[in-house]
Amino acid sequence: MTFSADDHDLPDPFDSAPLRLTIDLAAITDNWREMARRSGRARTAAVVKADAYGLGIEDVGAALYFAGARDFFVALPAEGATLRAFAPEARIFVLSGIWPGMEELFFENDLVPVLASQEQFAFWMAVLADYGDYPCVLQVDTGFNRLGLSVEDALMLADDTSRPASFSPVLVMSHLACADTPTAVMNRTQLDSFRTVAAAFEGVEASLAASAGILLGEDYHFDLTRPGIALYGGESVNGLPNRMRNVAMAEARILTVHGARSGETVSYGGTGILSRDSRLAVASIGYADGFQRNLSGSGVALRNAGLAGGYGWIAGRKVPIVGRVTMDLTIFDVTDLPENAVRAGDYIELIGPNIALDDAARAAGTIGYELLTSLGLRYERRYVQPTD
Ligand SMILES: *Cc1c(COP(=O)(O)O)cnc(C)c1O
Repeated sequence: MTFSADDHDLPDPFDSAPLRLTIDLAAITDNWREMARRSGRARTAAVVKADAYGLGIEDVGAALYFAGARDFFVALPAEGATLRAFAPEARIFVLSGIWPGMEELFFENDLVPVLASQEQFAFWMAVLADYGDYPCVLQVDTGFNRLGLSVEDALMLADDTSRPASFSPVLVMSHLACADTPTAVMNRTQLDSFRTVAAAFEGVEASLAASAGILLGEDYHFDLTRPGIALYGGESVNGLPNRMRNVAMAEARILTVHGARSGETVSYGGTGILSRDSRLAVASIGYADGFQRNLSGSGVALRNAGLAGGYGWIAGRKVPIVGRVTMDLTIFDVTDLPENAVRAGDYIELIGPNIALDDAARAAGTIGYELLTSLGLRYERRYVQPTD
């Protein structure tokens, strides 16, 4: 069997995909550099948990590694194992820590557990007794009430006489609960607790700030910062203009455009009631693609009263969703566009340069984090390389 040189002429599936996602790796690395600049003297890690916030841990991890990131945080050990091939020399920290049976996965991939509880700490002591020295991170709970040793337990452990000789954390860390609200008293309270802990672990690096914490200022930076959402272009602090570059563009194909009469209803439940003769564009995207049902257009009882419904962007204009978002399809009102401005086969933008991630999230009553991490597997993906 022979292959012809015509391989070049094969159609690019991206050009005809029912729905597609463009991921700008240059924007991600620029955003990482911006976070590094904002982190001042602290080193800047990259948080790539949940498949790099839904955008692909392999490509995103490789681009950040190439840009110079050498500290990565994942949630699960399997994510760390995937990342390892793309970040050979990096330190990879696993936020959910380690359980019995996972030792090999950690050792083989050179993953560093972030000890999340007393139980994990006790297990880790047993592991060290069996295997000898291995790095770990100590997570301390300064008020989030999620993961980590209590401040009291951490301070006790820091005391030389009670610290097992084999226990040598490379980092102590904690996580802020209210960093998205710079005026929250909680930020200062957690900072004060964490300072005590960091001081007790003299000579061990300390880390407190995620994206929002970085923007709280130098006091919060310590030795290592941990931005996630800011790398992906999302807002991290309420009310602050978002200076991150847009990273993801989600687009769906218009399958058909058709007219409907005033008084007719649209989609399941007949909740989208047309108040004028309308032109409707049906796009190949639905709640199975993270385009949440909460984005449904006006009149939908399941939405919170305050939500206005979502939008798309097509032919240079924002167009509203009409009626309920369904599993695979969503209907947009394109009546206000010139006739023939929208045709079957065109693409409508759902998230991107014209529909900000966080605006789309707000319309669905959620946050950019959730929108990104629920995009799902049906998009044809295209990565824009930093060198393109
Ligand atoms: C997810 C996470 C981060 C990153 O948070 P962003 O708000 O996305 O910047 C940092 N640290 C911990 C412990 C996390 O769980």
